[in-house]
Amino acid sequence: LLDSLSDADLITPPDVSASVLREALKNISLVVGPENVELYSKETMKLDEEAHYYNLPKEHDMFYVLEKDVFLASAVVRPGSTEDVCAIVKLANKYLTPLWPVSMGRNLGYGGSAPRLRGSIIVDMGARMNKVLEVSDRDCTCLLEPGVSYFALYDYLQKNGFKHLWIDNPDLGGGSVVGNALDRGAGYTPYGEHFSMHCGMEVVLPTGEVMRTGMGALPGNNTWQTFQYGFGPYPDGIFTQSNYGIVTKMGFWLMPDPGGYQSYLFSFQNDTDLPAIVEAIRVLRIGMVIQNAPTIRSTLLDAAVLAQKSHYTDSNDILTDMEIDKISRKIGVGRWNIYGAMYGPKPMRDLQWEVLKNTFMQIPGASYMFPEPLKEGAQKTVLHMREETLKGMPNTYELGWLDWTCKPGSLLGFSPISPATGIDANKQYQMVKQRFREFGFDYLGTFVVGWRELHHIVCLTFDKSDPDSRRRAHRCIELLIDDAAAEGYGEYRTHLCFMDQIASVYNWNNGASLKFNEQLKDSLDPNGILAPGKSGVWPKRLRGRGFEI
Ligand code: ADP
Repeated sequence: LLDSLSDADLITPPDVSASVLREALKNISLVVGPENVELYSKETMKLDEEAHYYNLPKEHDMFYVLEKDVFLASAVVRPGSTEDVCAIVKLANKYLTPLWPVSMGRNLGYGGSAPRLRGSIIVDMGARMNKVLEVSDRDCTCLLEPGVSYFALYDYLQKNGFKHLWIDNPDLGGGSVVGNALDRGAGYTPYGEHFSMHCGMEVVLPTGEVMRTGMGALPGNNTWQTFQYGFGPYPDGIFTQSNYGIVTKMGFWLMPDPGGYQSYLFSFQNDTDLPAIVEAIRVLRIGMVIQNAPTIRSTLLDAAVLAQKSHYTDSNDILTDMEIDKISRKIGVGRWNIYGAMYGPKPMRDLQWEVLKNTFMQIPGASYMFPEPLKEGAQKTVLHMREETLKGMPNTYELGWLDWTCKPGSLLGFSPISPATGIDANKQYQMVKQRFREFGFDYLGTFVVGWRELHHIVCLTFDKSDPDSRRRAHRCIELLIDDAAAEGYGEYRTHLCFMDQIASVYNWNNGASLKFNEQLKDSLDPNGILAPGKSGVWPKRLRGRGFEI
């Protein structure tokens, strides 16, 4: 395999010649077996026509917004154990071949499994390291390898006598539990803040040493998955959205079945209701009357889950308020829609419901709904779909909205954080709507109510087969990042192509934060081999050499 491509075809990373890359991969194949090393060139890039959620390309981003070969890997390697990972990391230090670890690489809208630095070797952690290592009935915890998806964990619990333990999945169930928590993703049950619900990590450091965090640092401990902190500085956070280590095991807390559950939908008729909704929801969320992270979804996001734009209108233009009103009536949702759930026995839920109903029904035109049993052959409503998600049943319904304007559609994620106030939500909404209008995109979005803040998840869908659509998508978000920063808003996560830009707006006190990150990087990864450029953090060897974009 290593000889199947000519030197000129190889995607060599900076400072690495074709023969050195070949030698590095030859040595890695001695560790993992030649069947677990795949080499890429521009010619072998997976054809997009064959790619879908369950068959994503590993070497490039399926939703490429820049040219397809900008974020292109040289190879993928599939370790089978922590020892394999250590050996790969040591070889990378020897040959200076950059590594880009992913768990399952389904990071849709943020770059998939593609590396930030062209020519990096993808370390596909999930391919073979995909076991549920432990589940504790008593403590309601688990210890996972990176290749365990939400579907797999759910299945494992169902089939192994742990039906009473719930999981918390994000919108799509095919991603990695470990990978999502490491990118600080979120779900929708009371355990939705994934990083907060992790407990203990095993990490291969950029020099090839293995470390366990928290109680895992104490040999023979019996609390690695039950106490998060251990002793001394708490390092877990620096392994998220970072390039300081490769996580090989991670512990999580699991929610015991709460003894009752009811999902609900509150619909609001007016586009202008958003501030009132947010003002009301903040108080209930911080006060824990609302136990989970509810979402406030726009009409078109719901419409898009159910069908393409062409199903609703002949127009290719941005939809007007009147047209959106018409769609909202057609699909039976409002202009804004709170999807939430109550957890616990009925008497508890009844009390909660009184408060929710009395609060939200004060907004003129508000209505509510519970999911009805589905009639034979009827299409599920978004409420039916959210009912599953909100109780930790993994699914892939939300793939639907990707195809809003074309099939297959592509996604570029834009996810600023704001205070959970009406003024801020509205400012954010107007800011995005204005830019979307300028660049020709319908606003599809949702405000996820975390604890005290909103994750504004803006779903920009574009047509990657049209260079103009890609250019507009890219420019639109580039401008929005600056618009947002000018108002004091920053993104919680981003696509590869905006990592440098976003790192540069988090620049309080002369960029003290980025300087700190770079200092850590240089000390932990002196050869600069691990995920160069992740979150805008470049190692000394590659910094300022024109790789930032
Ligand atoms: P998912 O498939 O759940 O979307 P990914 O595997 O794509 O998650 O992971 C998201 C991001 O998190 C990756 O791009 C990478 O930066 C980081 N990441 C994932 N797994 C690991 C890991 N095991 N060690 C270090 N970083 C990781």
